[in-house]
Order: sequence, then C-alpha cells, then structure tokens
Amino acid sequence: EEHMMQSEKLTMAGQLAAGIAHEIRNPLTSINGFMKLMRSSNRNTDYYYDIIESELKRIELIVNELLVLSKPQAKHVSKPVNVLPILDQVITLMKVQSALKDIEIVFDTDDTSLWIIGEINQLKQVFINLLKNGMDAMEAGGTITVTTYSNEQEVLISVRDEGSGMTAEQVQRLGQPFYTTKETGTGLGFMITQNIIHNHRGSIQIESTPNQGTIFTVKLPKIKKPEDIE
Ligand code: ADP
Repeated sequence: EEHMMQSEKLTMAGQLAAGIAHEIRNPLTSINGFMKLMRSSNRNTDYYYDIIESELKRIELIVNELLVLSKPQAKHVSKPVNVLPILDQVITLMKVQSALKDIEIVFDTDDTSLWIIGEINQLKQVFINLLKNGMDAMEAGGTITVTTYSNEQEVLISVRDEGSGMTAEQVQRLGQPFYTTKETGTGLGFMITQNIIHNHRGSIQIESTPNQGTIFTVKLPKIKKPEDIE
C-alpha cells in the first residue's frame, strides 16, 4: 500500500511539473516574441510593453500561487482555532469586492463558536478561494450564503452561490492543476483549497447544477472549546 501511495505522489508531482512548465512557457514564448518585434520595429512600442507586462504579471501570479502550495504546512496545523471569527473576517474582506458586482454575502450561523485544530492563514485562504470562485461565477449578481453547522465530531461550513454552476464533467476536472475556464484564472485555487483541507484532516464536498449554482461544503474535525478541556 505504501508503494501505491508513493507512485501516486510521483504522478501528482509529474502532472504538476508538466503543467507548470506549460503554463510558464506560454507567457515566456510570448515575451520573447514581442521583445524580438520591438528590436526590429521602428513603430511605437507601447503596445508591446503592455503585453510583456501583463505576461510577466501572469508568471508572477502563477509562481505566487505555487509558493503557497510549497510551504511546509503540516507543522503549522496545530493550534485550537475558532472558525467563526475567521469566517467573519473573510466575509468582511470579500464584501468590499462583492458590493461592486451586485453580490450580497450572507452569513447564516446559529453557532457561537466552532473550534478545530488549524492554522488561521491557511483557513482564511480556503474561504477566500471559495468566495472568490462563487463571485466569479455570478456574472449577474445575486447572493452567496455561508452557513455553519456542527455535530459531535465535525464542523461543517458551506458556501452556496447562485452562479453558473458546473456540469459533472467540470466538477470532475475541478482541482486538476491549471484547469481553468477563466481568462485570467490560474486553475490552482481549488487544488490549494483541497490541499489545505487535507492538511487539516478534513474533506470538501461539491454539489453543482448548471445555471443554478454551486454548494461547497467543508468538513473539519471538531474539538472542544479550549477552556472546556480539563
Ligand atoms: P481559477 O479560479 O483560477 O480558474 P480554480 O481551481 O479555483 O481556479 O477553479 C477552476 C475552475 O473551476 C474555474 O475556472 C471554474 O470554471 C470552476 N469553478 C470553481 N468554482 C466554481 C463555482 N463556484 N461556480 C462555477 N464554477 C466554478
């Protein structure tokens, strides 16, 4: 069984490496081409500078997202964390952008605290990614609802949007490195989300209906409120 896990890891790393090479080679090829054109051109080169600049930004975006993935994470996932204020902060942050797109973010919770073992910045990253994807999917505006529940063992957080939704095939591809349908997407967001949740010993479930919307449900192992322990 260990062998299988090892080979799965290699395949994943190989897949990722191939994707990175491809994604970074495209803008590099384009930069190279436009630099050559600029050298041989006696026309105004402002337009070429713009393209080169945006291609460099794209490389920077991809590299930044990959750095998040490459950080040693497991050892930070060790402190009791209350998920509620994290959700509160992330929602407040995202509301600034959502208002501009006619999107309302509703926080629907009856819980007063939801404790898990985790790392605050990574958890923020998860909910920022989910809310951002929800917003990107809602061209015409609408409501995103964040709901929390819990039972004896688990904390559940769901993010529901009224966006474009996905077909079964698209849901299947979600999380594959560099799978994106967005012009400026990297296709790394959901892979990072899954990776963080996995490091927190949790899981994520997707329910999606084309033209109706998507519900992402994150499940994380619950712990007792720290002051209740001992
Ligand atoms: P990116 O956002 O850079 O495209 P992701 O890995 O976060 O990368 O998402 C991959 C793709 O999955 C998106 O391009 C989009 O097509 C689809 N997707 C993700 N979240 C949603 C959502 N809430 N609604 C509809 N499609 C989504």
